[in-house]
Amino acid sequence: MNRLDKDTLRQAAQGCWPAILTALGLPAATFTSKRNRPCPCCGGTDRFQWIDKDAGRFVCRALEGQGGDGFALV
Ligand SMILES: [Zn+2]
Repeated sequence: MNRLDKDTLRQAAQGCWPAILTALGLPAATFTSKRNRPCPCCGGTDRFQWIDKDAGRFVCRALEGQGGDGFALV
């Protein structure tokens, strides 16, 4: 079985994070709303937003790094 490195996975996931994360159980509304949503990371009720730009990333005002890419959300 071949192993994929992180860079290969990151490249393959570009633009696909909403589908990947929805398949992993996050609500689809997490990625369709332009408004702040409940955060699947910290549980905050209004501090999460998905930014569907470039490879896709999220922002949460409560997290130390203020968010990250799909890998960080997983
Ligand atoms: Zn959060």
